[in-house]
Amino acid sequence: MLTVSQQTCEVQVDGAWHQIGLAEARGLYTMAQKRCPACHGQVIVAGTYIGAGRLKLQHRRSHIGCPLKPDTYTGTPSLHPQALA
Ligand SMILES: [Zn+2]
Repeated sequence: MLTVSQQTCEVQVDGAWHQIGLAEARGLYTMAQKRCPACHGQVIVAGTYIGAGRLKLQHRRSHIGCPLKPDTYTGTPSLHPQALA
């Protein structure tokens, strides 16, 4: 069974993508472009990191080839049709 951490995303800093934790993305890179580490689709960080709250990645446009979205995942990973490069 494939398990991919849902607790990271990638942010674009000075033209390069860096994988960071969601709390960091939310707290330090609020305005930076963010993408899903699996399908490279644009994401936002939803939720709260105060107390026991859970942060999670939310795709701006859902994508059935993303293993980080078990609800819609077809079983075959593929890049987002509007992947950020
Ligand atoms: Zn994705």
